[in-house]
Amino acid sequence: MARVLVTGGAGFIGSHLCRRLLADGHEVLCLDNFFTGRKRNVEALVGNPRFELIRHDVVEPFMLEVDRIYNLACPASPVHYQYNPVKTVKTSVLGAIHVLGLAKRVRARVLQASTSEVYGDPAVHPQPESYWGHVNPNGPRSCYDEGKRVAETLFFDYHRQNGVDIRVVRIFNTYGPMMLPDDGRVVSNFIMQALKGAPLTIYGEGKQTRSFQYVDDLVTGMVKMMEQDGFVGPVNLGNPGEFTMLELAQKVLQLSGSSSKLEHRPLPPDDPRQRRPDISVARQRLGWEPRVPLEEGLVRTLEYFRKQVAEGHA
Ligand code: NAD
Ligand code: UDP
Repeated sequence: MARVLVTGGAGFIGSHLCRRLLADGHEVLCLDNFFTGRKRNVEALVGNPRFELIRHDVVEPFMLEVDRIYNLACPASPVHYQYNPVKTVKTSVLGAIHVLGLAKRVRARVLQASTSEVYGDPAVHPQPESYWGHVNPNGPRSCYDEGKRVAETLFFDYHRQNGVDIRVVRIFNTYGPMMLPDDGRVVSNFIMQALKGAPLTIYGEGKQTRSFQYVDDLVTGMVKMMEQDGFVGPVNLGNPGEFTMLELAQKVLQLSGSSSKLEHRPLPPDDPRQRRPDISVARQRLGWEPRVPLEEGLVRTLEYFRKQVAEGHA
């Protein structure tokens, strides 16, 4: 049993990770400032004697005795990370400095939740870890993309300079229960719109592609990466299935039985045109690959949002 800190633990991915770590027998400290996280995401865990919820902002230093740190604190939806872009940069950069300083002091192993956004609007397709990316340094997405890139730099520099035991995963678009209904990302938008009978908002022509990974697959990959020895990463964690936004909209309509129409909206600036992970490294080094196909994951996510709507939470 280890004592594990999860920053951003009340968010979408963090809450699934906390639940998995408790099920694996660990003690879990969930630290969050509740910017995009909710107490409701972890309410089923509160009361477990091995679970602790801490309200704190990673921009401020903190000291805890832990063996493992998963650093997830950072808004992930473009709507939320662009709401206060300066804060987003501070969260990624100061947050990384604080978890790395803590890991150095207490000799904890620390895993960074990096992102496929480090590849920007990629000129190489699919994206292997060796690709350095194609990122605008001063556009509306830069606060997130460059913040995450600096965080990776800090992780590797603390590792080389101070011997900190790091792990870096690059997460591709992930979806599932516990996403906020008004999160702003495409899967939750389409599902909520379909359930309400509102038009599905397609940005641009809808021909841009993404690869969608169900959250349970991601959590398995993150834990595998954390618990193996000898490989610090970076490693892509994503589902190589690639879909256009029009295809995703059709799937949501079909699975929900909704008769919503499609409505085109302007394409946001710097929106990546294509994205698909090369997961050879994860397959080889972790023996990991995703198991949940898009349709199955969408059905589970639809069920969750239906229940949220029925219970008045959405
Ligand atoms: P989320 O917005 O649901 O969760 C982020 C959590 O971090 C929230 O609980 C939020 O309140 C908390 N947080 C934000 N700023 C904080 C701060 N300054 N101090 C403390 N807590 C703070 O997003 P998510 O989808 O669960 O993403 C989790 C992590 O995974 C993020 O770091 C994100 O960049 C990364 N990631 C996610 C995806 C994805 O598709 N979901 C893809 C790539 C990377
Ligand atoms: N998108 C869309 N309609 C929406 C929300 C998003 O067409 O209501 C598109 C968006 O332009 C992008 C893709 O869906 O091309 C994925 O967007 P999301 O915000 O989920 O994540 P991103 O991968 O862009 O960070």
